[in-house]
Amino acid sequence: MDKKIQELKNKAVLEITGSFDLKSLEDLKVKYLGRKGEVTQILRSLADLSIEQKKVIGPQAQALRKELEELIDKRSAELKNKKTRSFDVTRPGKKIKTGHLHPLTLVEKEIIDIFKSMSFSVVDSGPEIETEYYNFDALNIPKNHPAREMHDTFWLEKNSAKNNKMLLRTHTSPMQIRYMEKHKPPFQIIVPGKVFRYEATDASHEINFHQVECLMVGRDISLANLKYTVEQFYSRVFMRKLNARLRPSYFPFVEPGLEIDIQCVKCGGRGCNICKESGWLEVTGAGMVHPNVFKSAGYDPKEYQGFAFGAGVERIAMLKYNIPDIRMFYNGDLRFINQF
Ligand SMILES: [Zn+2]
Repeated sequence: MDKKIQELKNKAVLEITGSFDLKSLEDLKVKYLGRKGEVTQILRSLADLSIEQKKVIGPQAQALRKELEELIDKRSAELKNKKTRSFDVTRPGKKIKTGHLHPLTLVEKEIIDIFKSMSFSVVDSGPEIETEYYNFDALNIPKNHPAREMHDTFWLEKNSAKNNKMLLRTHTSPMQIRYMEKHKPPFQIIVPGKVFRYEATDASHEINFHQVECLMVGRDISLANLKYTVEQFYSRVFMRKLNARLRPSYFPFVEPGLEIDIQCVKCGGRGCNICKESGWLEVTGAGMVHPNVFKSAGYDPKEYQGFAFGAGVERIAMLKYNIPDIRMFYNGDLRFINQF
């Protein structure tokens, strides 16, 4: 019998402490302590028991009734207090914080998707610590070439190979050579990757940034293919029709070399503060692959032609999201990062 009282107690305590409003608490009070309540019935049934049983069960049942009365009073006080802080289902919920991608990752993914849809293959970004050969020599930038000064380079001090100094790559173009050494044309690839420059930082310069190298090689590839690809790519990344303008320039690894401008992503060419009223934005260096670069990779430059350009991921992200300072991508300020 006292086992029955223990079970009754466990059940009642669980229900009372778990009651969520005053109405259900009142129901529980009736259920256990009311005139026909379960505890009350035990007390009433004492009359049918032997004296020995009464001595055991009586005090236990009385104690249980007292304990439940106190517990109900306590829970009642808690629920009354809670009532002033009641739950309002019409209020907006708290936003659950989940992880999200960095804006540069978002833009890089978008760039990759666009090139993939134009049948370009995505090539692994390759080594960030590069040899002098792949970063410069094989790209038609021999030692003492003045163009090396355009690349402020982080050189690594200790080199195992004496005639092949190591450096942090200054562009993704070394992957042109690495890829061509192992593949035969025709192909069209992009290589997204991180590059490094040893220079002072300001609103538009960082010591590391991201490029997407674009290379198409085959027979009868011309500047027309380059212009079409650039226009398609930038129009899709900025989601408006943008024409490209090619201006003569010089880069040792291309001939002819070009600076490419696109129509301003904000004003579309009419002139605004972003394009300094010119209607054009300079976006990338480009050109037709230099015959010496093909020779470095073991190709016959009379047989194949190709074009190359390198899209700057930060530059695109800054134009796309109206970000005024490249350093914002790297300073870890959550007020900035959490907007993406
Ligand atoms: Zn403009």
